[in-house]
Amino acid sequence: MGSVGAKDVPVLLTPEGRRIDGRKLDELRPIRIQAGPLHQADGSAFVEWGANKVMAAVYGPREVHPRHLQQNNKAVIQCRYNMAAFSVDERKRPGLDRRSQEISKVIAEAFESVVFAEEYPRTSIDVYIEVLQANAGTRCAGLVAASVALADAGIPMVDLLPAVAVGKVAGQIALDLKKEEDNFGEADLPMALVPQSGRLVLLQMEGHMTPEELSRALDLGVAGCTVIYGKMKQALRDRYATTELAGGAA
Ligand code: ADP
Repeated sequence: MGSVGAKDVPVLLTPEGRRIDGRKLDELRPIRIQAGPLHQADGSAFVEWGANKVMAAVYGPREVHPRHLQQNNKAVIQCRYNMAAFSVDERKRPGLDRRSQEISKVIAEAFESVVFAEEYPRTSIDVYIEVLQANAGTRCAGLVAASVALADAGIPMVDLLPAVAVGKVAGQIALDLKKEEDNFGEADLPMALVPQSGRLVLLQMEGHMTPEELSRALDLGVAGCTVIYGKMKQALRDRYATTELAGGAA
């Protein structure tokens, strides 16, 4: 959301209410989720969401590194979100910057509220999120991928965590912003929730919304999460249906 000259701002919303990629305000980008693509990890998932491509891998419960993070009464959930240097148009400086650290922290905290960590004291559940191609909404895509990867690893949880960002574009509340909308829009509100209870476990906001807009944005986000939740469950069903068939044929 940098300041740019008016001539540089693309048309974000047509008079007919269509967005830069033709979507309606309440429409998600296409999402494809694959559970279990990495065979060495305990659990994994690959998410293609619009132009985002994100891989998540889960290892554990396993020995804690570094050792001093070990907790006697529960597992520690360690999360590392990373954007590949080639994931954006201009080469990103490789390595963990402050943004990656912040995203890693909020995602770990979201999982802490759903994973039954007390079942695995003195262990670590390590969640790796690698963004291979980025086009806004990568923390949500990463969270969705990691959540399916945790389920694939057999980690007991209250539920899967669907996530989506809602924003404000050309004065309108819009679901699932893509890059230009994130850059030139007025607000960005990523969220993740526990579907059964509707409890929000991640909520951040950049930009400005009125209380009334915020309320509509939350409703739109919840509706988006419901759709994403269905796709997450389907990905896991597909994975285990295939495994059963393969096992049966062997
Ligand atoms: P999110 O990806 O969760 O929306 P941000 O709002 O921080 O997180 O970033 C929005 C988008 O901006 C990213 O998805 C990515 O496309 C782009 N971006 C973020 N950091 C960089 C960077 N260091 N260099 C280039 N593009 C970046």
